[in-house]
Amino acid sequence: MALYVYKFGGTSVGTVERIRAVAEKVKAARDRGDQIVVVVSAMSGETNRLLGLATQIQAQPQPDSRELDVLLSTGEQVTIALLCMALHELGCPACSYTGGQVKILTDDAHTKARIRSIDDQSMREDLARGKVVVVAGFQGVNDRGWITTLGRGGSDTTAVALAAALQADECQIYTDVDGVYTTDPRIEPRARRLKQITFEEMLEMASLGSKVLQIRAVEFAGKYNVPLRVLSSFTEGEGTLINYEEPKMEQALISGIAFNKDEAKLTITGVPDLPGGASKILGPIAEANIEVDMIIQNIAGDDTTDFTFTVHRNDLQRALEILQVVREQLGAGKVTGDDGIVKVSIVGVGMRSHAGIASTMFKTLADEGINIRMISTSEIKISVVVDEKYLELAVRALHSAFHLDQELPA
Ligand code: ASP
Ligand code: MG
Repeated sequence: MALYVYKFGGTSVGTVERIRAVAEKVKAARDRGDQIVVVVSAMSGETNRLLGLATQIQAQPQPDSRELDVLLSTGEQVTIALLCMALHELGCPACSYTGGQVKILTDDAHTKARIRSIDDQSMREDLARGKVVVVAGFQGVNDRGWITTLGRGGSDTTAVALAAALQADECQIYTDVDGVYTTDPRIEPRARRLKQITFEEMLEMASLGSKVLQIRAVEFAGKYNVPLRVLSSFTEGEGTLINYEEPKMEQALISGIAFNKDEAKLTITGVPDLPGGASKILGPIAEANIEVDMIIQNIAGDDTTDFTFTVHRNDLQRALEILQVVREQLGAGKVTGDDGIVKVSIVGVGMRSHAGIASTMFKTLADEGINIRMISTSEIKISVVVDEKYLELAVRALHSAFHLDQELPA
């Protein structure tokens, strides 16, 4: 007998028919003798609808975050009750829990709370009695019992946290894609579903733009070593398993290609090459709460440097204004901004033990006539910034250069 935590996202419980289909799947698993805890999201669109209501009442300043949490948590309360009814209808005993009823204790950070502890006692009692336990995702309570929520997409985190607390055999995230792909199939139709990927790689993929899982959920799963599986709620299949297992030596060096179209690049030229230059430029940017991603600095040879960095596109205008002030203070040259760029990254733990990955990447792009504007590397990823118009070409060329379209020998 195994214990599984299943999580179904908004589309998977978006209609009454789909809730019924989820119930069938859950019942089938229980009939096989497994213990099942199910975490559900709100019906698709519901969280946004509730947010819309709140902003109609109060647009500026933002609605009180405590009350927002009271409001937003209701979406998941609807689906836990409906799913239990659907299970009862199939003759499957089931009991619903809100976050507070489980005692998912969080900190006080309304709308982005972090889980502190989970009481698994009631859930275990229900499981021992043969019941399916259905838990509302995305919510908890603080130590005063006030409702908190975990941030958008937070049901993934609830599922992983419950799996960790219950020491489940696996946490299965059912969604509208059938797994994690080598890259976005909308860009490269030859993208393949990965059978397995490590937590580290998944974390890089998620933070580099792959939207399959909430980053925090992946972090949590890695920290508590909860095997995580992403699979489709609509089709059969084994999905993608995320765990600590690294590929064997002869296997792929690269697991996937991620890209991010949300960044913009800023350059300030002719910065006097003196200690403190970088901090005078990036200090005011940080003070404005603008996050910086890639940074390069280049010596121009005449005691000045050119300094380039990337920020989120939404922050480009504000960052430009700040840089103009900095430019005057430093007596630097010119300030320019460019939002026609995209960051393309290759990710794989295999590159740790292999040389030549970077040069293959650069040569592949060169052969396509793609100019690389910025480069950054870490132990398991290499990112380049290129002009946005090259996105498809770059992704497809790299995908084939690293043989990601080919099935690996098992
Ligand atoms: N319903 C919440 C959201 O839409 C949480 C979730 O779906 O994971 O963000
Ligand atoms: Mg979601």
